Amino acid sequence: MAEPFSEFVQRQLATIQTEGLLRKRRLVEPLGEGRCRLNGRELWDFSSNDYHGLANHREVIAAACESTRTHGLGARASVLISGWTPAHQALRDQLATFEAVEDVLLCSSGYAACQGAIAALVKPGDLVFCDRLNHACLIDGCRLSGGSLRVFRHSELDALERQLQKFQSHQGRRWIVTETVFGMDGVLAPLARLVELAEQYDATIICDEAHATGVYGSTGQGAVTELRESGHCDADLINRRIAVRVGTLSKSLGSQGGFVAGSAALIQLLWNTARPLMFSTGLSVAACGGAAAAIRILQDDPDRCSRLRKSSVEFRQTLRDAGLTLLGDSDSPIVSVVLEDPDRTMNWASELEVAGFLVGAIRPPTVPHNTARLRISLSSVHSPDVLNELTQVLLKLHETSHV
Ligand SMILES: *Cc1c(COP(=O)(O)O)cnc(C)c1O
Repeated sequence: MAEPFSEFVQRQLATIQTEGLLRKRRLVEPLGEGRCRLNGRELWDFSSNDYHGLANHREVIAAACESTRTHGLGARASVLISGWTPAHQALRDQLATFEAVEDVLLCSSGYAACQGAIAALVKPGDLVFCDRLNHACLIDGCRLSGGSLRVFRHSELDALERQLQKFQSHQGRRWIVTETVFGMDGVLAPLARLVELAEQYDATIICDEAHATGVYGSTGQGAVTELRESGHCDADLINRRIAVRVGTLSKSLGSQGGFVAGSAALIQLLWNTARPLMFSTGLSVAACGGAAAAIRILQDDPDRCSRLRKSSVEFRQTLRDAGLTLLGDSDSPIVSVVLEDPDRTMNWASELEVAGFLVGAIRPPTVPHNTARLRISLSSVHSPDVLNELTQVLLKLHETSHV
């Protein structure tokens, strides 16, 4: 007889606990303006991916309510049946213009968009070159696709090139899958070089812009747009090699859901082949209305993105000058302070909490061994004074830890 189900569950939980990997949810009450309440205390929230505080923005909330009043809350069916409402159509049109593409598809999460698109496009016999730090949804998509997965060390393009060379005469298609801003490190992918390598070795790039949307590009269109706008890379080359761009509505846009931006033919193909899109209910109407308002806000105030990035550069510089170890040279709002030891990381996080700041404490296996870190996410709603206070607390922790 099989082990009773309840014992089976308990035994697995016990294993996770013994390994020190048991995670727990905490009740966090968002208060807006970059603040939250945790355990009865109000804190500055430096842990969210809502880089402009748009989830609590008055106009975003009003738009989500208004679209819900007009069209109802849920989509009621898969998009292919009847789950595509005027709210979806309006967001689609707006996102296609924003991202300067022919078409955009919308689905219920960024996770589903990435996993679904990759699994639908990559075929058995294809080769997929994946950065080692790629998000789980990209890895899952590759695994589901039946393509053969080749992992290269994070942003080490010499290693990637050697692999591309080795498989130059491979029969199937070659893909390169990457995040444009790596979510746990806060650093940009070397996109220009990736595009050149893709051209040289005839590979097609799939980009996940989850942490780049709302941060890079003149009004937050993402890192691919930023590369195009920079003039450092030929626009035709970018368009030819970066065939698929996936983004999320759930981070900078303060809403919920995922999208894929590309050619009309690509989007039509994905609606017909990507299973999480075909067999899941359409994105909620409220999420559509909210995301549409968030994009308008970013377009009306492009300074938001540059302000956020400027404060990131200054914050990083101060921490570096004081001797703290940061990951990468970047201006993204994700600032990773590497403390290496998981216990030390947890201690610093609780000290910061006592001082009034909520930050992410990230340990293996989410990040590689010996790279436990504080993941501090800045937001354009935090004032320079607040950021300065946080800096002082961090510097103090650093000083005392060296005595
Ligand atoms: C958050 C994230 C996703 C998932 O997006 P959701 O909309 O939260 O499902 C996908 N890829 C990356 C790189 C992410 O950071």
